[in-house]
Amino acid sequence: PEVFAPLRGNARGFDLTHTQTLDEIELARAPFLNKSWDAAPLLAGKAVPQPAVAVTNPTNPAASPGTVRNASLADVATALDKAEAWAAPLSERRIVLLKAADLIEEHFGEIFALLAREAGKGLPDCVAELREGVDFLRYYAGQATGEPPAGIFTCISPWNFPMAIFVGQISAALAAGNAVLAKPAEQTPLVAHLTVSLLHQAGVPKTALQLLPGGGDIGAALTGDKRINGVAFTGSTATAQRIRANMAAHCAPGTPLIAETGGLNAMIVDSTALPEQAVQAIVESAFQSAGQRCSALRCLYVQEDIADDLTKMLIGAMEALNMGDPWDLSTDVGPVIDELARKGILDHVETARSQGRLVAELDAPETGTFVAPTILRVSGIGDLEREIFGPILHIATFKSHELDAVIDAINATGYGLTFGLHTRIDDRVQYVSERIEAGNIYINRNQIGAIVGSQPFGGEGLSGTGPKAGGPNYLPRFGAPDVQHVSD
Ligand code: GLU
Repeated sequence: PEVFAPLRGNARGFDLTHTQTLDEIELARAPFLNKSWDAAPLLAGKAVPQPAVAVTNPTNPAASPGTVRNASLADVATALDKAEAWAAPLSERRIVLLKAADLIEEHFGEIFALLAREAGKGLPDCVAELREGVDFLRYYAGQATGEPPAGIFTCISPWNFPMAIFVGQISAALAAGNAVLAKPAEQTPLVAHLTVSLLHQAGVPKTALQLLPGGGDIGAALTGDKRINGVAFTGSTATAQRIRANMAAHCAPGTPLIAETGGLNAMIVDSTALPEQAVQAIVESAFQSAGQRCSALRCLYVQEDIADDLTKMLIGAMEALNMGDPWDLSTDVGPVIDELARKGILDHVETARSQGRLVAELDAPETGTFVAPTILRVSGIGDLEREIFGPILHIATFKSHELDAVIDAINATGYGLTFGLHTRIDDRVQYVSERIEAGNIYINRNQIGAIVGSQPFGGEGLSGTGPKAGGPNYLPRFGAPDVQHVSD
């Protein structure tokens, strides 16, 4: 098949170091600063009217970006009745998906505004998200082969990449020719609604793509019906386990679940590492997107002899971060998604504080659901009982002879998503990479921001089922079971 090159670092040519680009973004975004959106189910049949519920702006609860009317169980029944695999020839499906990518790029102002106001995303994150979303569309459109689809695919996506991962799942399912039932995260229905509207505008039939905003009841209905031929899910490991059980009870045997879940990601910095490089990579990996990436760094292991110096540098770099409104260009760290998330993270910090393990923390703004970037001391990754999905970095130290024990402890978590290593010893790069059980291993750089087409993203163990998103093995898993050639 013809493979389109993914755009690399260049969605619409945004370069945030150019004032002209910033002016262009400001102009495109400004009309949406006070807009109020309304999301509702987008079905091939009629939706049952539901009350409108306010969507929360994590930066400022008083400035809601709009309302959502969630789908009802009757809407799920309608969607299942009306769903039809996308029968158009492959060449036409490709053209439509490429058109959708263009339309999404054209609407960047509105999308950036929604990502800031609904998901608390700062501009660099908005640019990366737009880039990843259109990359997914173009990449999967280019990879599609015209083999028979699975049938009806449910796609359930997370709030932390409410456009990119949302459209990534959908575009793979559509490129393979499936009918898609898409349920966005409850916190971020507005950008999902806009994205599906643009896909419809590009020419995706309504029978092939239906949007069902809602919570756990809608998710359960969409993953517990024998007419469903596959489920793509990105979110927590616990939710993936519930989906698996629901599918086992209600779907046909062997219905595939493609799940991308949590991580307890580590980085090892040895005493040969370049300190400035390591510090920059640590700050980006732990605090960018307010730590709300499943790829984010949670536990840093620093070799003992450099630990004091590196920690001092790290605290200095952390103190230079600006927290605030993600709409402002000077903001480095925005809010976490909602009060429930904030409370869970702060409980964890308070426990550590009471145990005398707080190393450093910033002050968080009082309005909005902000959590200050924080560094906590741990004896090792085994101290972390769960993934803390926020800007909290845990630091442990190790002695030279303890490297193997550190690797074992990282592997023993059972997760295996991202891992970072900073060292100038070539043999060590090979030694550690061969032993660490993680889907994505990054050497002498940050460990977030995988690029579609060149860095397929996904984990093993508790971190996901594979195949990796944005890689060559993803799309075939959306096909009819008897034509799947590739596994991963
Ligand atoms: N693909 C993203 C990255 O590499 C993370 C996706 C996620 O958080 O689910 O940072």
